[in-house]
Amino acid sequence: MVEEFQNDLAFARKMDERDELRAYRSQYHMPVQANGQPYVYLCGNSLGLQPKATEGYLLQELEDWKNLGVEGHFHAKNPWMPYHEFLTEAMARVVGAKPSEVVVMNTLTVNLHLMMVSFYRPVGRRKKIIIEADAFPSDKYAVESQIRFHGLSPEDCLIELKARDGEVCLRQEDILGVIDAHSEDIALILLGNTNYYTGQFFDMKTISEHGHAKGCMVGFDCAHGAGNVPLNLHDSGCDFAVWCNYKYLNSGPGGMGGAFIHERHADSKDIPRFEGWWGHNKETRFKMRDAFDPTPGTEAWQLSNPPILAMVAVWSALKLFDEVGMTRLRKKAISLTGYLEYLVNTLGDDVVNIVTPADPAQRGSQLSIQVKTADKKLFNKITEAGVIADWREPDVIRVAPVPMYNSYEDVYNFYTILKSAIAGN
Ligand SMILES: *Cc1c(COP(=O)(O)O)cnc(C)c1O
Repeated sequence: MVEEFQNDLAFARKMDERDELRAYRSQYHMPVQANGQPYVYLCGNSLGLQPKATEGYLLQELEDWKNLGVEGHFHAKNPWMPYHEFLTEAMARVVGAKPSEVVVMNTLTVNLHLMMVSFYRPVGRRKKIIIEADAFPSDKYAVESQIRFHGLSPEDCLIELKARDGEVCLRQEDILGVIDAHSEDIALILLGNTNYYTGQFFDMKTISEHGHAKGCMVGFDCAHGAGNVPLNLHDSGCDFAVWCNYKYLNSGPGGMGGAFIHERHADSKDIPRFEGWWGHNKETRFKMRDAFDPTPGTEAWQLSNPPILAMVAVWSALKLFDEVGMTRLRKKAISLTGYLEYLVNTLGDDVVNIVTPADPAQRGSQLSIQVKTADKKLFNKITEAGVIADWREPDVIRVAPVPMYNSYEDVYNFYTILKSAIAGN
């Protein structure tokens, strides 16, 4: 269904009135400008806003630590011993996995390394990794260092997927074609499931099935997908996925990451893995003498006892995702992003070019808008006018209207500020 949009503030406000999620905006702290007005915050793809409830949950743990000391492991209101388990079911619902396949632990790049220890096992000629040519730098460094760690060289072992000349997004047929062309040589296919730069959302199931048919492992970095698009990790069949929780999932700067390992691997006894005491069988963890006995599922990949103060923020944020549900979020996201697209396109294709795919099935809540003939000065202007978005050289503004807390009015305000900045006002 194509929605009928209108280019005026009254229409945006009418859409907000009809929005069944409109009340959730008030559950978050909206950053405020020096003049006391709230920012037009469209940067939840970079750092999500703070849920108002998080402070209270944090104070609870500080109180329990203050009053109970080590006894808090068992007697805190939310005992620290099993604390990570409180998050698992809600996390699994967000990413579309079985609870046993998911764990909140570490941070994203750490988890990516841990997954590659298990799932990048170069043997014979099958030693290459496919990534996107414009993969996020941390992912590229992680992959290259893993290749070198095995005594191999990135020059020989890294295959980068490039868009066709004159195009910015990758075509699925080209991804599958590269897999076919190198099928005997590929150990691992690792894609950002939603590309951080273009906002392109890949068909994870098709890529996973194709990769598996050729004997490759398939993993996804879902940093820009978790809490944004329907991931259906279990059904996609991918071998593993990792993500951070501080972008669309609002759990604070440098907050904890997540990992998914498909159940077909998670209980395998002979899978190579870096191990630590928190991955050990819970019954005997504190005997401290036994040989490593992995706890079932992805929890076996945990290393340390987790940072409770960081986990608090993930749990607090996930409670709101559980209330709303990914289905309702996705429905609003498609409409809200569609409204942004509609407004931006009225500026004319001689002025702007939206790099993100036009097909809602191939994108989430982010549009990457190339403003032709613009430079950073234009971006500085819209920032001064109260917009928080993200600039990528040479000429792309990334804008994320997040369905959890952004309104149609935010989108409309962004558009009027951008329009007047382009007009030189
Ligand atoms: C945000 C992001 C990261 C950041 O990694 P951290 O380990 O959390 O600092 C890595 N990869 C991608 C694709 C990202 O979008």
